[in-house]
Amino acid sequence: MILGFLQECLLLWQSKYKTLIKAHMSEEENPPEKRPRPKLADHPFAPLGLKHKVVRAAISNGYDEPTHIQAQAIPMILNRRDVIGSSQTGTGKTAAFAMPIISNLNKHGKFRCLVLEPTRELADQVTQAFRTYSKYTDLKTALIQGGVGYGRQKEILAKGVDVVVATPGRLIDHYKQKTIHFKDIQIVILDEVDRMLDMGFMPDVKRIVKLTPKKRQTLLFSATIPSEIEYLAQWALKNPFKINIGQRRSAAETVNHCLYPIAREQKMELLIRLLNDMDYDSVLIFTERKIDAEVVARKLETNKHIAHTLHSDRSQRERKLALEGFKKGEFEILIATDVAGRGLDISGISHVVNYDVPRNPENYVHRIGRTGRANTEGDALTLFSADEGDAIKAIEAYIDQSIERVKLDEFEYAFTTLLQKQEVSKPVRRGRNRGYVPADTMPMNITRRRP
Ligand code: AMP
Repeated sequence: MILGFLQECLLLWQSKYKTLIKAHMSEEENPPEKRPRPKLADHPFAPLGLKHKVVRAAISNGYDEPTHIQAQAIPMILNRRDVIGSSQTGTGKTAAFAMPIISNLNKHGKFRCLVLEPTRELADQVTQAFRTYSKYTDLKTALIQGGVGYGRQKEILAKGVDVVVATPGRLIDHYKQKTIHFKDIQIVILDEVDRMLDMGFMPDVKRIVKLTPKKRQTLLFSATIPSEIEYLAQWALKNPFKINIGQRRSAAETVNHCLYPIAREQKMELLIRLLNDMDYDSVLIFTERKIDAEVVARKLETNKHIAHTLHSDRSQRERKLALEGFKKGEFEILIATDVAGRGLDISGISHVVNYDVPRNPENYVHRIGRTGRANTEGDALTLFSADEGDAIKAIEAYIDQSIERVKLDEFEYAFTTLLQKQEVSKPVRRGRNRGYVPADTMPMNITRRRP
């Protein structure tokens, strides 16, 4: 019996030994694939002074070179200078501040960096960007936004985070409940400040900034910087380095935009005709009012289009599902109010349609900036009725450009004074359908869209 036991032990030992030898042999015979390590030092992001782990994140994100705002902002932020950055939408603004901050924070520690965002969607997006660019570090980023429960946020804060991306209201609630404190903050980022101004967040923003340590680095980013914001900058920032990329009041050059004059009661009919004619990948439609977003969605649904809505009357969960579904391409049409107009980075939006003319000219630039991002071409169509003439004038004055008027052939127009001076002419169709352009009626002073 003892002999049998010993034999069994021997067999077991032999089999284990053999496996080990085999493993060793196979490794020698088949050495693991030599993975070509990217040459970090040669990468165009390296000379900016970023830590290697951040450059690696830029490489793994497929960024070949820094954008203009990144080339200018990153070295300044690394040197802990205050910065005011104004840049056209879709120019890589988020990475311009997130990358140098991650590089400076370096390792997990205390809550040292606060980013304020005007909307929950933007806060979510910027949180994801911080997590992406810090994936080779142990830094932790928390998203603190309204519309969801407090419990999970409290747990995350209690565990310890380095960066908090927050909307102002919910952040103040946490501060009042003492579930967050600001005493270790070294960097404050005020992002999309013009939107915060529009949304009435300025008192909250000022209050939060006052609660942070005086010795801090402050960065202020905004697509446009009106005088009220320059005033805030003087108050909150010390000797800021100013970066102004491109014209403040222009749409991205990659967006082709035009106007479709139409009687108000025919807007829906025209929209359906345009959607039927257009060869679109995804369309973001803006309405001024939440109720109109719902009305348009229902109408489109009866015309066999799948459309979802995004506005502030929808729950946070519904907003998130709508945005995610649209981003993933689960449906092609999203109808939104201006809550989605700023900053949202949804790649591949081929068309933006303004069902209503935005009352605020800046919103026109922001809305049409949702397409044509990251150097891809996009089209922005605005349906405008006679009662919106003043808003169009204001937009054209704001962007200092007259916008091409387009009239569809083979569409039964009801009478509108807007169409009186135009002749209908043969439609010109360009590549992917961007609507019909009346070739002979094109005013001389507008830039024709690229073929
Ligand atoms: P943002 O202006 O921050 O909303 O960024 C717009 C888009 O540009 C995002 O999808 C980024 O991932 C992308 N992006 C940012 N920096 C670069 C870069 N250097 N090269 C290519 N794409 C970039």
